Amino acid sequence: MYSPMKMTEMSWQQFRDALPDCIVAIAVGSVEQHGPHMPLSVDLDIPYGLLGMLKTTVPVVIAPPVYYAGASQPATGGGSHFPGTTSIKGYTLTQLMQDVLSDLARQGCRRFLVVNGHFENTAFINEAAKEVALSSGAKVVVANWWELVSSSVLDELFPGGFPGWEVEHASLTETSLMLYFRPEAVHQELVPVQAGKKHEPRPYVFPEPAGLVPSSGILFSAEGATKQAGEGLAKHIAEALSEIVEDHLIS
Ligand SMILES: [Zn+2]
Repeated sequence: MYSPMKMTEMSWQQFRDALPDCIVAIAVGSVEQHGPHMPLSVDLDIPYGLLGMLKTTVPVVIAPPVYYAGASQPATGGGSHFPGTTSIKGYTLTQLMQDVLSDLARQGCRRFLVVNGHFENTAFINEAAKEVALSSGAKVVVANWWELVSSSVLDELFPGGFPGWEVEHASLTETSLMLYFRPEAVHQELVPVQAGKKHEPRPYVFPEPAGLVPSSGILFSAEGATKQAGEGLAKHIAEALSEIVEDHLIS
């Protein structure tokens, strides 16, 4: 089994020699507020960390990640009312992904894995993936990490109850995963003490009204997040990702 290599650590000759067989993996995140207890990089830190845990029967090269993301929305815990949340337009993200994947395909890469950490990116990444697959003949698989988590694992890791993905912003799973991947970047003493509150369905309004997201910046309580839960989640998701690579990009 292979552990992944980072493209930024390879010489051009090493990359050339790896290209014919390898799978290129790329993480896409966001620059978005994640509460007072975590940095703006959470949506990238998690998929980038997960890629490093892949175990595959074909070498994987991890390409430099994409930080900037599609517009953050209040419905998923973001929005434009928090300083630091810095987004690009959806079509810019599509074009950026398309350019990067196409240029790697031009060099001979035939297999790509894109792992996304920010909900709002999904449609824009898929659009780029479809276009690159059609134009280059390469195969592109896109996965949102949270869609790979089974409900039985959530029940086991969060015995206090899992409130649901729609309120999972800087809360149980993201905080736990960050405690595992980057413990030094999580300030547990700043985890907001707030009752969990589910969002009511509502329309998207522009300009965005203030106050749609609690002033803490998190949608549900992050109390109950632990490093152990983060480790369990990370191993579970990395295993699922490794299986996706085997099923869709190798066999
Ligand atoms: Zn997030």
